[in-house]
Amino acid sequence: MADSEPPLPVVRLGLAHETSRASTTKSGFTKTTTTTTIRYQVHPLGGARRPTAGTESYAVYCGTCRKSVQVMVDADPVVMAKRRQQRGWGWVVVLAGVAVMALGIPKPAFFLGGVLVLVLGAVVVTGARSQQGVRVSKDQPIAARRGHTIRERRGV
Ligand SMILES: [Zn+2]
Repeated sequence: MADSEPPLPVVRLGLAHETSRASTTKSGFTKTTTTTTIRYQVHPLGGARRPTAGTESYAVYCGTCRKSVQVMVDADPVVMAKRRQQRGWGWVVVLAGVAVMALGIPKPAFFLGGVLVLVLGAVVVTGARSQQGVRVSKDQPIAARRGHTIRERRGV
């Protein structure tokens, strides 16, 4: 099961700087769809390593804006614990959705609401496995955080 897979090695992840964001809206007969294309430049995480325990903070140089960005890296056990916790919450939401559906069977709007809650819970549960335990620290000025995310590096 993919859920027990260890997090990606830090070298497979990078600091992404958003370089552009463009939205196009198409109006059709029945619906309007908006597609947003975000472009990034992804930089290596420098000397960042996964610690054996706890969480380590690293200053990573962004080659796009030439700023130093604080990045937090969790140890494997911390990532696994966070995934378990996220799955746990997801299942709570799934069960809440089932309960609302059961209560709402005579009322279509309630039933539909329950289905939406259930789907949301399922998204949280399946999203848990992509938790890699590497993130841009929130404990730094917003100017350093803005436009920066952690993404998987291609071709590494
Ligand atoms: Zn940058």
